[in-house]
Amino acid sequence: MTTVNRLILQNGRLLDPVTGVDAKGDLWVEDGVIVPAQKEIPENSEVYDVHGKWIVPGLIDMHVHLREPGEEYKETIKSGTRAAAAGGFTAVACMPNTTPVNDCASVTQFITKAATREGSARVYPVGAISKGSKGAGLAEYGELRQAGAVAVSDDGLPVLDSQLMRRAMQYAGSHDLLVISHSEEMALSRNGSMNEGVVSTRLGLRGIPAAAEAIMVYREIALAELTGQRIHIAHVSTGAAAELIAQAKARGVRVTAETAPHYFTLTDEAVGDYNTNAKMNPPLRTEKDRQAIRKGLQDGTFDAIATDHAPHSVLEKELEFDRAANGVIGLETSLSLSLALVRDGVIGALRMVELMSSAPARILQVEGGTIAQGNVADITVIDPEKRYVFTEDSILSKGKNSPFLDWELQGKAVLTVMGGRITHNELT
Ligand SMILES: [Zn+2]
Repeated sequence: MTTVNRLILQNGRLLDPVTGVDAKGDLWVEDGVIVPAQKEIPENSEVYDVHGKWIVPGLIDMHVHLREPGEEYKETIKSGTRAAAAGGFTAVACMPNTTPVNDCASVTQFITKAATREGSARVYPVGAISKGSKGAGLAEYGELRQAGAVAVSDDGLPVLDSQLMRRAMQYAGSHDLLVISHSEEMALSRNGSMNEGVVSTRLGLRGIPAAAEAIMVYREIALAELTGQRIHIAHVSTGAAAELIAQAKARGVRVTAETAPHYFTLTDEAVGDYNTNAKMNPPLRTEKDRQAIRKGLQDGTFDAIATDHAPHSVLEKELEFDRAANGVIGLETSLSLSLALVRDGVIGALRMVELMSSAPARILQVEGGTIAQGNVADITVIDPEKRYVFTEDSILSKGKNSPFLDWELQGKAVLTVMGGRITHNELT
């Protein structure tokens, strides 16, 4: 990591969904801020010719699991944010299912302090909805907010009590905190280890029906309507849920939603021969769902692409399929897989940047998401042509649990800059 007083990126394709800019040009950074270009290049400038590459606002992943405190053998704030920077991310929001659960100011502060000390990306803590994420009493939102939390979620677990969720939305609204829903009807999903369908039947595994997601998504929408508050639906995997979100948006409900690269890239066929690296919750769905997710990215049903980066050690994954842990890593493959959507003509380049940067910044109400002058210099330079094989050796995350191991991918972050500080550099 190096800090430069002045950074100059020349001849790139500038993409900014906030200002609508999509044009060739230069970007100048001085003391961590984006400044107007000058005629002469001053001495002591770090200059890169980024011809053929995209200069975009730093990517923001609004759904990751950093595992610290408590499970540092799986990931730490240091290793997780290094993986983030390598993937082109300048900021991540981290879920509260650590040990202890992030349900109070002391845990939130522990995270923000560690991130400031040793992070390669900004870290926005997400506090718990309920104390200990146990689904009974609410956590103290005022305290969480003051300590630096940007949202609340019991992610990993649904809030089963609808009255508690209603109160959470009202209470969070009064503290300007976003509520993020892990939408799962447990009575339907319990003991399931993959999508319920033809493949689960063939493999003899207990399935999780798409309705387990849709039922809870509908409840969250109904509660957002009832309370007039915002709700953000995490990791949407089904066409059924996407349709509910699209209908709710059309009638003005304050709902936003994210999906993850694995849901628009893979189907439950990826479970193949009981591959635990294709096991996550919600599970990979059918081709019809995958197509619906891609359509939702195109038509605005989804606001954001988030990874649900969930590192696990080999110990949790090298087990029988139904006993293995849920989750896949995603920080280092998200951009390449999203660029494939652009190459396939599903979405345009500006839309991709909106989904991966501007919209998460807007939803979380944090800085970044634009490269307009005067803004913080959180910048990602993307080489859309660069081809590479995603190997286990190349992974910076402590988790190696990816369904994309040994895939040949195209398009990569080649320079990541956070507040003017270079956190990842493949240009030199
Ligand atoms: Zn979740």
